[in-house]
Amino acid sequence: MSIRNNLLEIREAIPENVSLVAVSKTKPNEDILEAYEAGQRIFGENKIQEMSAKQQALPQDIEWHMIGHVQTNKIKFMAPYVALVHGVDSLKLLQEIDKQAAKHQRVIACLLQVHIANEETKFGLDAGEVNELLGSETFRKMTNVEIKGLMGMASFTDDKRQIQNEFSQLKSLFDDLQRLPKTHNFNPEILSMGMSGDYSIAIACGSTMVRIGSSIFGTR
Ligand SMILES: *Cc1c(COP(=O)(O)O)cnc(C)c1O
Repeated sequence: MSIRNNLLEIREAIPENVSLVAVSKTKPNEDILEAYEAGQRIFGENKIQEMSAKQQALPQDIEWHMIGHVQTNKIKFMAPYVALVHGVDSLKLLQEIDKQAAKHQRVIACLLQVHIANEETKFGLDAGEVNELLGSETFRKMTNVEIKGLMGMASFTDDKRQIQNEFSQLKSLFDDLQRLPKTHNFNPEILSMGMSGDYSIAIACGSTMVRIGSSIFGTR
């Protein structure tokens, strides 16, 4: 199967209102171009320096999403162009993104990463920490970031019911946030959940954005 065919198949399988982030981490520019030529415009990377090198080399109308854990000292490299940062898991990190975005007169869209998996290794906030962050004076004063929603990763397991439970938990927190008043820097409309192995479950649970790598580009 070619990248083009994989991409078209996935695009067919997901509803129109669900955005597709093609996760191109570790893949060469020629693979990204093949997806681009098949119409894909949103690409996700998990290392800032790799993403920046690709951003410079590839067409300028690509929307680059940072989906990995963000290292504070590297934010400056993506601040000029990044379209969405999925993995914000602390107020401190958000403050640094806000500061770097201001240097470029930009507002950087961000998602708060929520810990839903059973595993210790996955980053993220719990529901209490999300509310605490959003309610803080420090957040309310920020002018160069906008919280656009939530991101989460389910446990790596074959147990579909567990995955479903974890995604449903995240959807329910997202619903709670959508009932809050919108502000200058808070407008939750994106729920980023679902990868190659679990995107159908994620969509059934209310995902609005899936991040798919290996099913498009092959195994890494
Ligand atoms: C790598 C990665 C993906 C894509 O994973 P696949 O299983 O290859 O689809 C999605 N989200 C995050 C955060 C990732 O790091």
